[in-house]
Amino acid sequence: MVERTALVNGTILTPVKKIEEGIILIENGKIKKVGKASQIRIPENTETIDVKGNYISPGFIDLHLHGSWGGDVTTGLEEDLLKISAGLVKCGTTSFLPTTLSAPLNKIREVVHCVQETMKKNLPGAKILGVHLEGPYINPNQKGAQNPEHIILPDPKDYLGLLDEFPCIKRVSAAPEIPGGLELGRELKRRGIVASIAHSDATYQEVLAAIESGYTHATHIYSGMSGVQRISAYRVTGVVESVLLLDELTTEMIADGHHLPPSLMRLVLKSKGLDKVCLVTDSMAAAGLGPGEYDLGGLKVIVEAGIPEIFEIATEEKNYVAKLADRSAFASSVATMDQLVRNMVKFVGLNILDAVKLATINPARLQGLKTTGVLAEGMDADLTVFDREVNIKLTMVAGEIKFRG
Ligand SMILES: [Zn+2]
Repeated sequence: MVERTALVNGTILTPVKKIEEGIILIENGKIKKVGKASQIRIPENTETIDVKGNYISPGFIDLHLHGSWGGDVTTGLEEDLLKISAGLVKCGTTSFLPTTLSAPLNKIREVVHCVQETMKKNLPGAKILGVHLEGPYINPNQKGAQNPEHIILPDPKDYLGLLDEFPCIKRVSAAPEIPGGLELGRELKRRGIVASIAHSDATYQEVLAAIESGYTHATHIYSGMSGVQRISAYRVTGVVESVLLLDELTTEMIADGHHLPPSLMRLVLKSKGLDKVCLVTDSMAAAGLGPGEYDLGGLKVIVEAGIPEIFEIATEEKNYVAKLADRSAFASSVATMDQLVRNMVKFVGLNILDAVKLATINPARLQGLKTTGVLAEGMDADLTVFDREVNIKLTMVAGEIKFRG
């Protein structure tokens, strides 16, 4: 039997274009038709949902997430992944890349194995796209909240086995300038895995070499990367400026209203254009839970509201942030994708269509996803419905309603 649903009376953000008074017709989990109400005939025996003029956009795609809704990716437990999957749909996210942290290799293997097994199952909410390894192959000088005890150099004897055993590894964030970093980049490229410059002290020349070896992306711009520095009388270009300058690289922003002030987010968008930037939460288990003390890969983390006066904006009380116990650095974030999209409109001044691009079609394109990220015929019916303030009303994964607000 054909299962058919129609979402009617929506403002559709495909997000290549905006369609007022639009209809989306869904058949057996796939999008059958998208268009103006006047152009689409709804067949008989179709369940019809009136979205009352709200926006309909592709479900958000989060390529960098360590946890949320009480679930922690790094435990290597299925129950944590299920908690995350179930929670994310409340924020409009329909697919994500669970992301590891620097840890002993056997622990990383355990976590990746758990993701590989869990993603085969029928999940309660958002889909798992695979694994994003962040570390352990990073530069200790740019460790951020990564545990320095577990940062190591990339050795093919270790990572070839890992990559062979786990085809679910889809992205690796690593520092290209450390010994073996370029060789790792070449191997990732050969396998079609996204290689991303991360926690890196590279110079401009080293970033060029990274691009030649296969790196295509840069992880959380401005966080864990070198900027321009003066060495004796000379300026040396860092990773930040290289990423802004070089068209070969895409990047991502933690747009939680804490990591980057609006001016820097605008600078990133102005330099890279609207097609080469995506929004990521980089969130940890406390995302969605509120303030308190939590554990992040063995490090104590405080979640609280409030920002210093020098910051350009006063974010709202509920815009929490996670910091290391001594408050010296951010420790991941407690953001959710709906919040990031809202921030792009509120603080950066983007229109809603452009803000949605950064959370849907852009991550899909840079990660090479073929069936999600755009509302178009033949794509998976992964979508979310929200009001003018990006409050999520409904989320659908492969045509199934997973959340209704
Ligand atoms: Zn990081």
